[in-house]
Amino acid sequence: MSPTDRLPLRADLRGREPYGAPQIDVPVRLNTNESSYDVPAEVAAEMVRAVAAEVGGLNRYPDREHTALRADLAAYLTRSTGCPVTADQVWAGNGSNEVLQHVALAFGGPGRTAAGFTPAYSMHPIIAGGVGMEWLDGPRRDDFSLAPDDVTAFVLDHQPDVVFLCSPNNPTGTALDLALVEQVCDAATGVVLVDEAYAEFARPGTPSAVSLLPGRERLVVTRTMSKAFALAGARVGYLAADEQVCAAMRLVRLPYHLSSITQAVARAALAHVDRLLGTVEAIKQQRDRLVDELRAMGLDPVPSDANFVMFGGLDDEKRTWTALLDHGVLVRDVGVAGHLRVTAGTPDETTAFLAALAATLVPTGPSPDAPENQEHR
Ligand code: PMP
Repeated sequence: MSPTDRLPLRADLRGREPYGAPQIDVPVRLNTNESSYDVPAEVAAEMVRAVAAEVGGLNRYPDREHTALRADLAAYLTRSTGCPVTADQVWAGNGSNEVLQHVALAFGGPGRTAAGFTPAYSMHPIIAGGVGMEWLDGPRRDDFSLAPDDVTAFVLDHQPDVVFLCSPNNPTGTALDLALVEQVCDAATGVVLVDEAYAEFARPGTPSAVSLLPGRERLVVTRTMSKAFALAGARVGYLAADEQVCAAMRLVRLPYHLSSITQAVARAALAHVDRLLGTVEAIKQQRDRLVDELRAMGLDPVPSDANFVMFGGLDDEKRTWTALLDHGVLVRDVGVAGHLRVTAGTPDETTAFLAALAATLVPTGPSPDAPENQEHR
């Protein structure tokens, strides 16, 4: 009997598992796609100044509309995507998870359906379930890509109230073709949400779904400052959409949901975008290095536009995960047979991961291509 069995818990939550990426204090933590780089000292100092300026006024509630922050986020999106976005089209929350939940609360709820294409971000079904929606799992090809015709047919068949797309997709890493997003928007009668948490890491020539916003009032694009901005601890995520979507968010958010401290930290960060995003290129290099070296080890990395790489070719991913942990390296078991996911961190972290993996896969002896070693993969 689980401890919650004695509680009057909602029937549809019984037996569900919470989100639970392990938080283990080991030397090399590459399991939650955070930035491995600290906030640069001069930006941290600006944040401290910004927070200090707010502290005396904490007797008052924060700006419920987070007006200045929305303007700063709109300016960042406009500059980085080349597509004009106004502050009225932006909505922020405590991490993009909260923004996803706001969307699910406003457009989903009991009796409504949400769809996604597993493997994708594991919180999408959890958030949908949390607001009482039924989850529909759509098809992916064996190589984890989405087949436009299958996806469209699935959406037409089920007409979900919210369709979750993820680009670049977590855990597989690959970005979506915008033509597919357009096709889904045409087919869907509900909200189409494109989760672009990792957009800043995409390979050149990968446009943002922000460019599709004009004329599509049911399209929502979510972003976060947790990854490329190295601000996972600050909890700031946001969306861009038609301004009526933002009006709908006001119906479900709790009053004053973004603290004055959070708003101040995020604004200080946005005043130093170039400095904060200065590590993105270095992380992409490690990402590409991971793909190359994993392939050279005879494993199957999936092409990545994100700050992580999912790779297959493992006989027993759980055993490999544990063996890596024994070497002080924490990666993610994403529930895909024969696969693990590793975050691209610093060059030293990549080196430590690759060395630990090599030790795990080929403990001793002949070349990695020798048939007798196949079973270790
Ligand atoms: N979307 C995706 C695809 C993610 O991988 C994550 C975090 N792992 C999030 C959203 C949520 O991140 P946060 O709440 O920190 O913005």
